[in-house]
Amino acid sequence: MTEIRCPSCGGKLQIDKQNPKLEHCVECNKTYTFQTVHSQETGEEKQQLVPVPESITYRPIEKKEPKRTGWEPYGWKRGVALVILFFVLMGLMYGPKIYQRYQMDHPQTTTESHP
Ligand SMILES: [Zn+2]
Repeated sequence: MTEIRCPSCGGKLQIDKQNPKLEHCVECNKTYTFQTVHSQETGEEKQQLVPVPESITYRPIEKKEPKRTGWEPYGWKRGVALVILFFVLMGLMYGPKIYQRYQMDHPQTTTESHP
C-alpha cells in the first residue's frame, strides 16, 4: 500500500482513530476523506482525496443539547394532523354505517337532519 500524502502540503496523512474513513494531515491539521470519483474519460472509478469541512469532522466536543432532527417544531402539529387524518378516514369508511345505525337507534332525529 502506497503512503498517502496531503494534497495541500505534502505532509503525512494518518487515519483518524475515531473514524477510519477520515485521513488526518499531521502537518497542516486538515482532514480528508476518500471519495469515489467516476472518471468520464476512462470510465473507471477512482478513489480521490477530498477535504472534509471542519463542521462534519469528528470533534471531541460533546454538545449538551439533545440531537435535533428538525421536526421538533412540527412534532405536535404532525401528531394532530395524523389524528385528524385518522378520523377523516374512519369517517369516510364507517361514517355511513354509523349514521345508519344512529338513525335506527334514534328514529326521531331523522326529521331533524332534513328540515
Ligand atoms: Zn497537510
